[in-house]
Amino acid sequence: MSFDLKKIREDFPILQQKIYNRPLVYFDNAATTQRPQLVIDALTRTYTEYYGNIHRAAHFLADKATLAYEETREKVQNLINAESREQIIFTKGTTESINLAAFAFGESYIQEGDEIIVSEMEHHSNIVPWQLMAGRKGAKIIVLPIDDKGRLEIEKLESLISPRTKLIAVTHVSNVLGTINPIKQITVLAHSRNVRIFVDGAQAAAHLLIDVQDLDVDFYAFSAHKMYGPNGVGVLYGKKELLEQMPPYQGGGEMISEVRFSGTTYNELPYKFEAGTPNISGVIAFGAAIDYLENIGIEHAAAWETVLLNYATDQLRPIPGLRIYGTQADKSAVISFNVEGVHFFDLGTMLDKFGIAVRTGHHCADPLMEHFGIQGTVRASFAFYNTKEEIDVFIEALKKVISMF
Ligand code: PLP
Repeated sequence: MSFDLKKIREDFPILQQKIYNRPLVYFDNAATTQRPQLVIDALTRTYTEYYGNIHRAAHFLADKATLAYEETREKVQNLINAESREQIIFTKGTTESINLAAFAFGESYIQEGDEIIVSEMEHHSNIVPWQLMAGRKGAKIIVLPIDDKGRLEIEKLESLISPRTKLIAVTHVSNVLGTINPIKQITVLAHSRNVRIFVDGAQAAAHLLIDVQDLDVDFYAFSAHKMYGPNGVGVLYGKKELLEQMPPYQGGGEMISEVRFSGTTYNELPYKFEAGTPNISGVIAFGAAIDYLENIGIEHAAAWETVLLNYATDQLRPIPGLRIYGTQADKSAVISFNVEGVHFFDLGTMLDKFGIAVRTGHHCADPLMEHFGIQGTVRASFAFYNTKEEIDVFIEALKKVISMF
């Protein structure tokens, strides 16, 4: 491995603590990651050195804050290889990015009777906003199914696309199964049928190198808090010709050009979609998180996470009665499982007593749970700061807990 794990762990103050007198084992990274000290420092520095409201800057502090905020936009542009900075819209998270896109795309492009394809493995965030839009516009949601390995049945996609299909909404990486979806293949098919594609990148952006031009996606969304950055910051990338056609999602300060009671004109991209005072310090600190991630190298981080995924999977598989959901070969470092005869919530609660943080429940993916006929799972999800020793602790604790039932 080409990075110094010991040094990396020292960068994250929260990982140093003990929970119930045991070293914290943090395996809830798909829900939210932890932050390195330099991201925390960037937040503090913003508030102590150059905090002011951005874009209407006639003074030093506001000017400096504006520059730092816009610098992050350029970092995001470079991170995902977007054509221009105008295509990077700051939101408060993936959820808001999807709501924005669903509303504004719906207003511009969806007519009664149109169809939107949504996959069965989506997070509720990538289902409900499309349902709301479909309800408003009289459109229909069509479901792209998955198989029992947790793989998208992509061979069925072609026949699901009709002349009324306007958009496919799909996740890049499943937050439950870890499945990495073949986005480029879906995009080629979608575009050949004149269909747009929206990609939920919440679980991908910290673990895969994203190139929106190479993927040729129409929209891509992600959250800073799953990328070692602050919470309350997200990104929506969109193709320029679409963003230009789409109406604003929210009205308020900054998103306008001129306001008259006889009619208002809107600001240019990306400000048309950034109404009101944004999360200034959060966006600035997100820039520090991107620097940190790039310094480690997403490809190095991902390689280590795959080592952890395989190491944990190999030890979980032989446990009697344990079933892993999501067994496609190409997957990210997320393991969802159940153990026969033990409720997932009891497993999670007992693991917590060993200082181990996992997530339990439906993971905001009810249709996926329904597919497997379950109420929920235990989910362990890894980040580059996790270790094999932590997995050993987890496996040992899990075996102890199971033996108690
Ligand atoms: N999409 C996926 C695949 C997710 O895993 C999540 C969060 O867990 C979201 C969307 C929503 O992200 P946020 O809560 O940051 O808006």
